[in-house]
Amino acid sequence: VEVGDKAREGEPGRRAEMIFSGDELLRGDILNTNQSYLGERLLDLGIFATHALCVTDDLAAMVTAMRESLARRPVVLVLSGGLGPTEDDLTREAVAEALGRPLEHHEDLLGQIRSRFASRGFTWSDTNRKQALIPRGASVIPLKGTAPGFWIQQGDTLVVALPGVPWELKEMWEGAVEPLLRAGADKEDAADAAGGAGSPAGAAGASTAGPAGQSVRRIRTFGVGESTLAEMLSEFDWRGEDATIGTRAALDGVTVILRGAATPDGARKLDAIQERVLAMLGERVFGVGTEGLSEVTGEALRKAGLTVAVAESCTGGLLGKRLTDVPGSSDYFLGGVTAYDNLVKIDVLDVPAGLLAQYGAVSEETAAAMAEGVCRLLHSDCALSTTGIAGPDGGSEEKPVGLVYVGNVARGVTEVERLRLFGSRDQIRERAAYAALDLLRRRLLR
Ligand code: ATP
Ligand code: MG
Repeated sequence: VEVGDKAREGEPGRRAEMIFSGDELLRGDILNTNQSYLGERLLDLGIFATHALCVTDDLAAMVTAMRESLARRPVVLVLSGGLGPTEDDLTREAVAEALGRPLEHHEDLLGQIRSRFASRGFTWSDTNRKQALIPRGASVIPLKGTAPGFWIQQGDTLVVALPGVPWELKEMWEGAVEPLLRAGADKEDAADAAGGAGSPAGAAGASTAGPAGQSVRRIRTFGVGESTLAEMLSEFDWRGEDATIGTRAALDGVTVILRGAATPDGARKLDAIQERVLAMLGERVFGVGTEGLSEVTGEALRKAGLTVAVAESCTGGLLGKRLTDVPGSSDYFLGGVTAYDNLVKIDVLDVPAGLLAQYGAVSEETAAAMAEGVCRLLHSDCALSTTGIAGPDGGSEEKPVGLVYVGNVARGVTEVERLRLFGSRDQIRERAAYAALDLLRRRLLR
């Protein structure tokens, strides 16, 4: 959802395009996570992606896709995948043909790739030699794994080829490509300030990011629906404020995204908007930035010097997983019990059998008894519990699919929240785990 002036993001000269190679993507064997990653990072630089295309592993198809993209003259064209040694890895050849530049062998790069292979215990085969071929005029991006990436300025467009493996792509993007795009934007700003029309043509990195970058703020919220939030935000008239405000929903809450010019004036405007949004949303905001609920709740525990344990039924261990996603969580997370069956709730967590018989496993009373039980068992300061009906079957009129209770013990007080969640079994379980983290976070705030 975008509120405000969106069109400016699509101004010419600030556009990106992406081409993803791989039949795996087209067949649905893997999810195109590189696209969502790149789209978000580009937008943070003030560059709006207008085209993203998955292309089959075929040389002619890839060359055509690249030529069509170059003809639209984006400031950056990102190519993902197809840089490995196998027969279906065709990106090098496609770039060479589309750009009309021959491939050149880089002996030093070959040496680096060989030693990567050796240090990983892979056996070397001469088919890997083709990975050391790079189009003439291109700059090699330092290796992360075994596939080299490269970039090349072609007219108005910075063409960037990155390996498909997500962590390699990410490290190369952040380490090599973003600095290049930022430097390009700075140069263009300087040219604008000097009264120059446009940027010096041809030079590497000259016209890579369009005028002044944008600055972005992310206000992370939990417990308010996206449409409710969008409605609340639309009550303000943001237009003409030289800033945009949008929302993005995910299982771990809705993020309010503010964008404005990366200038002192732009920052002041964003500060003013941010202040109003924070005041409006109160404790529903769990942070400003990129930290998630696991980090924020963990940090609150660390600051308070408290430990936590979990008793999980419907989340089946996911809550423990979320807490331990954070490096260093052993400082406050003690452990947990997956008490799926009633007998485990009774025998291990000491939930009274009579209570289970009277209220049922999915009830406020059971959630409270589970949290208190694991607190006693593991001698923790705080505890969280989950019990609910994740579906798709097992619901009733009285206890429908998506009914979840999350329990919390903190500072000697037990609290339970009743949730009505929607979506697939997995979505319900994910949301339940995040809701439990959020309950503890809010409790520790008070
Ligand atoms: P490699 O040397 O590993 O072959 P490569 O650049 O040739 O590197 P690909 O063969 O295209 O990369 O992809 C390697 C793996 O990376 C794929 O099997 C897949 O798991 C992952 N991958 C590729 N493209 C994407 C993408 N767009 N999003 C997420 N994962 C991807
Ligand atoms: Mg490959």
